[in-house]
Amino acid sequence: GCSSEGVAAALRAAAETVAEHRGELVELDRAIGDGDHGENLSRGFTAIVSALETEVPATPSAVAKLAATTLISKVGGAAGPLYGTAFLRASTRLGDAAEVDVPLLVSALEAALEGVQARGKAVAGDATMVDALIPAVAAASAAAGSADASVASVLAAAASAADAGAESTVDLVPRKGRASYLGERAVGHLDPGARSTALLLHAFAEAAR
Ligand code: ADP
Ligand code: MG
Ligand code: MG
Repeated sequence: GCSSEGVAAALRAAAETVAEHRGELVELDRAIGDGDHGENLSRGFTAIVSALETEVPATPSAVAKLAATTLISKVGGAAGPLYGTAFLRASTRLGDAAEVDVPLLVSALEAALEGVQARGKAVAGDATMVDALIPAVAAASAAAGSADASVASVLAAAASAADAGAESTVDLVPRKGRASYLGERAVGHLDPGARSTALLLHAFAEAAR
């Protein structure tokens, strides 16, 4: 299982990954959006790390909630509120558990996806972060059924499924967010939010190993 310190470590790892890939995310968003996705996420995760320096909340749920409120308050645009809602729904699902075990992890990932879809109304094939998250949640759920499943193995399965899901956005016509303004002209481009979802899941998986 993964304690509140473990969740905090995963968020710190995510912040490092976002910082490393900031330029890449900016470039992806410059091609089909307004070029701020790397900047937005970097600002949000830097703020999460600072908040965790003050205090790591006592439960995994409270750590996820801190991430949610920080992203919602510090990150403008589409992705801040969407990722914020994902963490908020996950936080609610984690309840008062002291550790995130495999079934709870799968449930929290499902809640995160539901939150993103409730907030942004994107469905599969709209070329958004949802196209990374849907296969990630399905893969997490499948991996959880294996006899030797661990939090790390489930997250690793989710991350590689998210990679493939993100890649699938290259061939899609965006139907939500700024990229949808370009219509057919956005075909051939990787969706920045789908890419960042895959990056976040890889960071969580590495942190859980
Ligand atoms: P903005 O587009 O406001 O500048 P960002 O650049 O930070 O915000 O985030 C853009 C990403 O947000 C897109 O690549 C896409 O994955 C995601 N996104 C935008 N709108 C939606 C939506 N309605 N549902 C799901 N994801 C969305
Ligand atoms: Mg943008
Ligand atoms: Mg913007």
